[in-house]
This record gives sequence, C-alpha cells and structure tokens, in this order.
Amino acid sequence: MIASDLQSGVEQLGEMIARAKTIVPFTGAGISTECGIPDFRSPGGIWTRNRPIPFDEFVASQSARDESWRRRFAMQEVFAAAKPGRGHRALASLHRAGKIPAVITQNIDNLHQASGFAADRVIELHGNTTFARCIGCGQAYPLDWVKQRFDRDGAAPNCTACDEPVKTATISFGQAMPEDEMQRAAELSRACDLFIVIGSSLVVWPAAGFPMMAKDAGARLVIINREPTEQDDIADLVIHHDIGEALGPFVAN
Ligand code: NAD
Repeated sequence: MIASDLQSGVEQLGEMIARAKTIVPFTGAGISTECGIPDFRSPGGIWTRNRPIPFDEFVASQSARDESWRRRFAMQEVFAAAKPGRGHRALASLHRAGKIPAVITQNIDNLHQASGFAADRVIELHGNTTFARCIGCGQAYPLDWVKQRFDRDGAAPNCTACDEPVKTATISFGQAMPEDEMQRAAELSRACDLFIVIGSSLVVWPAAGFPMMAKDAGARLVIINREPTEQDDIADLVIHHDIGEALGPFVAN
C-alpha cells in the first residue's frame, strides 16, 4: 500500500516499528544522497556521467585500472567529507534500542559504521570503497598508499606481495558476490519480522532478491524511496518521499 502522504507514512511506519521484534534494514545509494554522495540512477547520478568499468576489463587492462582509480580519486573529497544522514542515524538509534541486529547494505561508503554500527553488524554486499585490496592475495591497502604510487608512477599500482592489481575493496559488475555476506544477509532476511528497503531502485541482482526472501519468510515489507521500484506491489507499506524526512522522526537524541 502506498502511503497517501508523508505524515501518514511516518505514522504507519512508527506503528510497524513499535510492533516489530527484529527489524532488518536494506539500504541503497538513496540513503546517502543527503550526505552529498550521488546515487547511480537518479538524474545527475554517477551512471549518467560514467559507464561502469566491469571487473574483467579492470583485470585485463592497465588503462582501465588507471581510469578506475582516477574516478575514485576524483570522488575522494566527497567521500571524505560525508557524514551520516538522518536515515543512517535513525537506523543507528533503532540498533542501540535492540530492534536492529545488523544492516544489509549495497552501499560502499562506510556511513553505517560511521553512524555507530560495529563493522561486523554491517553486511556490505558490494564491499567498501574507503580502502583497497589486492585482487590476487587480498592484501588490504589504504587509499593514500595507492594515491602516492599512482602520483609517483603515473599508473595504478600492483600489490607489493604478489604483483596482482590493487582495486578498491568493492564488488564490480562481473565480480563474484562475497559468499559470507550473501549467506548472512539471507539468514537475517529470513529471521526478521520487519524488512525495510531504504533508497534502492532494487534493480541490482542478486541483492534485490532479499526483500522477496524476507516477505516469503513472513516478514512485513516497507519500501522508502522517492521513485517507484519494481517491488512496490509486494510491499505492505511504500513511502514515496525523501528518506531524511521519513526516517528523521526515528532519530533518538
Ligand atoms: P540506485 O542509484 O540504483 O537507486 C537509488 C534510489 O534511491 C533511486 O531510486 C532514487 O530515487 C532513490 N533516492 C535517492 N535519494 C533519495 C532520497 N533522498 N530520498 C528517497 N529516495 C532517494 O542505488 P542502488 O539501488 O543502491 O544501486 C546502486 C549500486 O551502486 C549499489 O549497488 C551500490 O553499491 C552502488 N552505489 C553506492 C553508493 C554509496 O555507497 N553511497 C553511491 C552510488 C552507487
């Protein structure tokens, strides 16, 4: 059911939150737009400017790796300046209140951790862009290390241990999904009684399968997104409004 207006949506959501024992949020890029990080698919979003570089292209081509790192460095000011928004803070409040065991996120911006979730309570389906990893041996690197090498050599660096390429610790198109995270996300989805999708267009699979999984296991489903999604028709409540406005009332001081 689509909420007729913001206020009635917030009231219905409040009742559902009060009744729920275990809430699992599933967040996408839309929760971070008020923090200054553009999403992918809104007008002006990242895809309208840059075609994504698939994983096999990154592996095969030094120039693709250079371009990928140039784009990442160009975003660094934005990522470094971003602070958790009202949506992140509302979820952190419900986490502290014992309602939310963990958050499933498609985001790579580290803002759930910054809002107060311990790292092991954030299930990152698409990794994290605030550090880098060797795609061969998995060795982690700070972004500063990559930047220094890039500036010195004029090219994206390889791992000092095994000489394979170093990439942001994110999951690119064509790269395998992280098994542990997929498993934990499935368990959480099946175990909750309220599943809340926040700021995702729900078009990136397999991540977009979790709302349906939760619903099939008996949870109530809420979708908060300013644009319609393909799963609106299976949701118990849809709020087509700004996330900060919808979740702001749930931030505890
Ligand atoms: P998406 O861009 O496909 O969809 C975001 C949705 O959020 C859109 O439907 C948009 O209408 C909605 N939205 C944006 N701002 C909103 C607001 N303030 N209030 C309400 N709705 C709002 O994002 P996705 O579904 O997360 O998929 C994109 C992929 O891109 C993800 O897998 C993620 O890894 C990656 N990504 C991450 C970030 C980030 O970490 N912040 C940013 C861009 C892309």
